[in-house]
Amino acid sequence: MKHLIPYLQDDQKAADYLRQVRWPDGITCPHCGSDAVEPRERCDNGLQRFNCVLCAARLGQQFAMFTDWTGSIFEESKLRPFEWLLVMGLWQLKLNATEIAAAADIQERTAQRCITLLDGGIYETYHLDPTRQLEHQVEADECYQSAGSKGLSREVERHDRAPRQRGLQLRGRATAEMGRPPLLGLVQRRDKAAQDAPAAQVYLEVLENVRTATIKPIITAKVKGGAQFFTDEYNIYHFTAADYDHRTVNHGAGEYARRDPDGTCVHCNTMEGLWSSLRNFLDRFKGISQRFLHLRVARYEFLHNHGHLHWRQTFEAALRSIFSTTGDYWRRMAHQHRRIPLTLCYR
Ligand SMILES: [Zn+2]
Repeated sequence: MKHLIPYLQDDQKAADYLRQVRWPDGITCPHCGSDAVEPRERCDNGLQRFNCVLCAARLGQQFAMFTDWTGSIFEESKLRPFEWLLVMGLWQLKLNATEIAAAADIQERTAQRCITLLDGGIYETYHLDPTRQLEHQVEADECYQSAGSKGLSREVERHDRAPRQRGLQLRGRATAEMGRPPLLGLVQRRDKAAQDAPAAQVYLEVLENVRTATIKPIITAKVKGGAQFFTDEYNIYHFTAADYDHRTVNHGAGEYARRDPDGTCVHCNTMEGLWSSLRNFLDRFKGISQRFLHLRVARYEFLHNHGHLHWRQTFEAALRSIFSTTGDYWRRMAHQHRRIPLTLCYR
């Protein structure tokens, strides 16, 4: 976080830095995209105001003003620019709301809103990015994460159901409705031959259930045709034979890894290692609501996939991602008090 220190001294420096990341090639109007903009006086919190000449002419006004934050998720926030920089730095360290609140000296409720906004921005731009696909050698596996209705007292009342079953009482494949939503993990193995290859790229999706109908559209969208595809023997993956070079290990028969005659290592160990690291991350939230689970998982996914970069590069990649959304996803979700159905994301 050291590189942030000069920008944490005052609001103007923080605002200037944020503007640089948002518009590296020069400032453009968030409404019309024109670069015919002129700087005006700053706001009280250090943000720069601009006048868009084109918008002003179109509207028949003397000025059409926007600020550094217009049209971004920060627009409605009361936090100051340097506070946002600090919160984002702590967010990247995978801290939870309580820890961020203590470290940034803000209210816990504010910290909670901030991390959900940041996670939502990453989910909307990075996680749902349709151009991000996995190729070459891809492992698939699923795991189950306990997630309840934490923070949703009305939801708990409405269901009026017995507490969810835990541990050994649970039999068979869990579903979201049972309080244990399944996660689908896809990971492209790191190319060990190339020294500067990026980290193993992962794609993690929180599901309602693990039926073939649920996972097939996701795998088709996320794994390039022709890839080598490694799974266990679980039959939900059997549809993949046509599109991929699909190889399975038989965990039931005690087989966890093998080398095929063509030299290919067949295993899901990369994905299994990732699950324990994800669990470690999710444990920090001390019980997690189903409403937020996919957002936290998206943060883990983003940070993992950028793990090979310098801290500052990851920080600025996250900022650019977050600046490229207006926070629509999060606003819609806040309004509906639940997650937007996955089926709307993969059509
Ligand atoms: Zn404009």
